[in-house]
Amino acid sequence: GAAITASSIDQLSQHFPLCMRSLHINLRKNNHLKHFGRLQYTLFLKGIGLSLEECILFWRQSFKGKTDDEFNSQYKYNIRHAYGDVGGDARRGRGYPPYSCQKILGDNNVGIGQTHGCPYRHYSVDNLVGLLQSTGVHDKGILREVRDDVGKQRYHIACNRVFEWSHKNEIKKVKDDGTWSQADLDTIVHPNVYFKRSYLLKQLAK
Ligand code: SF4
Repeated sequence: GAAITASSIDQLSQHFPLCMRSLHINLRKNNHLKHFGRLQYTLFLKGIGLSLEECILFWRQSFKGKTDDEFNSQYKYNIRHAYGDVGGDARRGRGYPPYSCQKILGDNNVGIGQTHGCPYRHYSVDNLVGLLQSTGVHDKGILREVRDDVGKQRYHIACNRVFEWSHKNEIKKVKDDGTWSQADLDTIVHPNVYFKRSYLLKQLAK
């Protein structure tokens, strides 16, 4: 596919799982994200193939109220660090890997007013349902099942349920024409896999 650039993120965010979608929505609303949200989102963007240069550009353009000096002194280093461009990991030639669901779900320090973490686990059920509705998940049956999953602490299942519901037409098409089998649709346990699968399905089902 075409190279992923800073200016393509708004459009691509339709393929993001709710954890990253929520960060993107909050970033656009507030022109800012707190530290742990920035880190979670930066590593995800790295994982979808955004280059370091484009990632710096993405954050620079997103932080509308900041001067270049503020941006360079407060934020740029952390982005480069996440990519392994500076710091101890740079010498070893790597940055941090993008977070898995297990890592995100296991974060016990997501406080009120913070937007990182997993919405299925860390948001109140009402906020979760409101967020889902704002991203186009209106089906009453699905929302009821998500409430039920979350009540039983089956956060993954809720996330995969929403994926399958939002991609039901594409999934039907690639199964019907034999492009994919059930084995291509195993449970998603990584936000970057969610993105990749959503993006691929859209191309395949065109
Ligand atoms: Fe993100 Fe994983 Fe939570 Fe889904 S289950 S919202 S991919 S952390």
